[in-house]
Amino acid sequence: MILLLFGPPGAGKGTQSAFLIEKRSMAHISTGNLFRANIKNETELGLKAKSFMDAGDLVPDSVTVGMVESELESLKGASVIFDGFPRTVPQAEAFDELLTKMSLKIDHAIFVEVPSEMLVERLSGRRMTADGKHVYHVTFNPPKQEGICDVTGEELIQRKDDSEEVISNRLEAYEKSTAPLKDYYESKGVLKSIDGTGEPEEVFGRIEAILGS
Ligand code: AMP
Repeated sequence: MILLLFGPPGAGKGTQSAFLIEKRSMAHISTGNLFRANIKNETELGLKAKSFMDAGDLVPDSVTVGMVESELESLKGASVIFDGFPRTVPQAEAFDELLTKMSLKIDHAIFVEVPSEMLVERLSGRRMTADGKHVYHVTFNPPKQEGICDVTGEELIQRKDDSEEVISNRLEAYEKSTAPLKDYYESKGVLKSIDGTGEPEEVFGRIEAILGS
């Protein structure tokens, strides 16, 4: 199965991906996590992405699509969640071509809807493990012990681009470049919109209802 999770920054894509990985043993491609890992490892790709990410801008499509292509090839045959990719219409078009080439297709493009006034609060209180795999919120979804991951026991971090100045640029980039994907996937007949508000488990129930057993 190929499943896309998309929506504004702070919609809860990472949190819902963690549920899907745990409960459905799906593989996960998060372009944000991949970029951050490349930056940490000081790769050439990381160098290309860093200035865009720090400013809250999108990384150029060519860099992003190339990275996804090699990642997907390494996961041949797996059910995969795409979290935060595609984020522009040209990425979506390139992705369709790539999937066709690999005899794959998108099963569901789930748009996670959250009112814009909630996003800043969600993003500024967000904390996560350095690899982005375990995501918390200081108020809405706190870890059992402040600042420590329940699962791995490591110290939680706040992402640099979760600062208020950068958040507004990320939300602008979303409105301009990513929101048009709703129409794109609607026209392809794979769009499913869900309410992304409420407890993370409730939101996951809405995803489960789409995926079925
Ligand atoms: P995320 O972890 O999904 O919030 O992504 C963090 C940042 O990584 C974004 O603000 C972009 O700078 C970059 N990024 C992640 N995914 C993409 C993508 N599909 N296209 C372009 N830039 C991306």
